[in-house]
Amino acid sequence: MARMTCKCGEILSNVLVPNDVQLRVYTDEEWDAIIQSNSMDSLAIPFPKYDIWRCYKCERIYVCDWEYGKVIKTFILEED
Ligand SMILES: [Zn+2]
Repeated sequence: MARMTCKCGEILSNVLVPNDVQLRVYTDEEWDAIIQSNSMDSLAIPFPKYDIWRCYKCERIYVCDWEYGKVIKTFILEED
């Protein structure tokens, strides 16, 4: 479990399970490999390679690599 402060000042946390902060994102190739490696009797879905967090206030997206203990990319909505 972790928490971080978004650049907008909102505190983000994954303490609640389930929560509305973490997104489970897989590439199509990763998802296909997961499906191919499972049988119909048991379904084992590994955690995705990256932890994706979304701020519910400003909608920034953070791509976290906890193996290295840090955010590696931040995406923000573009103003029109
Ligand atoms: Zn935010």
